Amino acid sequence: MMPEKQALTTTSPVRGPVSGGHASNALAAGLTRALGPRKVLSSVSERLNYRYDAIQFGVTPLCVVLPESTADVVAVVRAARAAGVPIVGRGAASGLSGGAAPMVEAVVVSFTRMTRLEIDAARREARAQPGVITLKVSEAARPFGLVYPPDPASFRTSTIGGNLGENAGGPMCFKYGVTGDYVKALEFVDADGGVHTLTRDAYDLAGLLIGSEGTLGLITDATLRLSTPAPYTRTLMAHFPEVGQAAEAVSSAIAAGAVPSKLEFMDQACTNAIEDYLHLGLPRDAGALLLVDTDGDDLETVEEERDLVERACLAAGGQVRRAHGDAEAAALWQARRSVSPALGRIRPQRMNEDIVVPRSALPEVVREIRALGDASGLTLVQFGHIGDGNLHPNILFDPRRESAEAVHELAHKIALVAIRHGGVLSGEHGIGTMKRDFMRDAVDPVTLGALRDVKRALDPAGALNPGKILPDGEGMEHG
Ligand SMILES: Cc1cc2nc3c(=O)[nH]c(=O)nc-3n(C[C@H](O)[C@H](O)[C@H](O)COP(=O)(O)OP(=O)(O)OC[C@H]3O[C@@H](n4cnc5c(N)ncnc54)[C@H](O)[C@@H]3O)c2cc1C
Repeated sequence: MMPEKQALTTTSPVRGPVSGGHASNALAAGLTRALGPRKVLSSVSERLNYRYDAIQFGVTPLCVVLPESTADVVAVVRAARAAGVPIVGRGAASGLSGGAAPMVEAVVVSFTRMTRLEIDAARREARAQPGVITLKVSEAARPFGLVYPPDPASFRTSTIGGNLGENAGGPMCFKYGVTGDYVKALEFVDADGGVHTLTRDAYDLAGLLIGSEGTLGLITDATLRLSTPAPYTRTLMAHFPEVGQAAEAVSSAIAAGAVPSKLEFMDQACTNAIEDYLHLGLPRDAGALLLVDTDGDDLETVEEERDLVERACLAAGGQVRRAHGDAEAAALWQARRSVSPALGRIRPQRMNEDIVVPRSALPEVVREIRALGDASGLTLVQFGHIGDGNLHPNILFDPRRESAEAVHELAHKIALVAIRHGGVLSGEHGIGTMKRDFMRDAVDPVTLGALRDVKRALDPAGALNPGKILPDGEGMEHG
């Protein structure tokens, strides 16, 4: 099997072995009989396409099932359980921590055909099956004057099931919250094939499922809260000689009462990568760049908030450019949206870290990570949702020239910086395979024990997405 420390790309994941023989045939044949041939993929060429997510190549699945209903999911779980074969849930496989990549021979349950979506405007709710593409929820809600705020940059491809699996966030989450904040109810299939409907009350079991990366149950339906979009938005870009000044501006603006709807940060290396790609006229010599939106129902208040942020940026030594009109605002945000393709031009692969640190620690954290990157000889850029202290240091590499071990070692050092400054390993991408080795550094043994107990309580055989979250292959004792 591919070394799990290897990985990491949004373009071409590192290769692992092909697998699946007799067991595959027997299980696939049984599932084909139960569900019909349209819903089961068993040829090697088909199965090969389901062994990776955006950063991790895993093991070729024994077979792939494309359920169309909760009843289909129940049938797969029961058949896999009877055969002693683990199950890996999969949405669009855009995950950045290895969550949807099978790490052992497994049945992959791909939710892409479960796409029913209903809007109940009176209740301000969307009812979505897990395969619904994130953007479709807002598109369907728009004619009713409603919106679904969680906005991962991948929203054109990611699914609601995957967003729930990772508790996805995005630029708007500082003000509007992450996926889990919009969940009113969930339906999920447990490791025995039992179907549960959960609301957000006693024990909040739905909250436990959200962000559990398919390791506790398979989500088959979600009731999501919708809200009304803010009619007014104002945009500005600020740039600073030093990262510390940008962080200071953010902290003082927030302390003064500003709650921007978007508050994004890029370091100089990231800005230059975008500038090389798009020639937008971004300030190449700036040590840090902020992109800020303020929004709301009352234009005067929105502009006052924008002015407050602007004053904080100027006071911290920054220079500010206001966007005049929607087109200029869109042009500024194009810079942020272009991070992924811009970085893809530098190296074919990248490891996207996702640490969260206290905002006050950001200047030091960014500097320490920069120094680690320089010392490693690898290419590193930093950007993120600075309002939440959520930083995405990206290690860019070419596997033909730079070793996966060196990348993993640098990622580990970055994780340790976050932990030392009172931060956490993941803000929105999850732990998956990528950060599970770091869990022992981040989580004390007693708490790790509690996580293990939760996993055992809901999945005693370790059949659901083994090899994820818990360190050192814990939870892989399926069968
Ligand atoms: C260019 C790019 C930009 C991105 N930007 C962001 C961003 O701004 N914010 C952010 O949060 N993420 C971002 N991501 C990461 C990724 O898009 C999100 O994690 C997203 O939520 C994954 O959705 P998916 O449908 O691709 O899920 P997958 O990758 O297929 O699966 C993710 C996890 O969820 C589990 N899962 C899938 N479906 C179910 C289900 N029905 N029940 C239970 N578990 C399930 C899987 O087993 C896996 O563990 C980005 C990724 C890329 C490539």
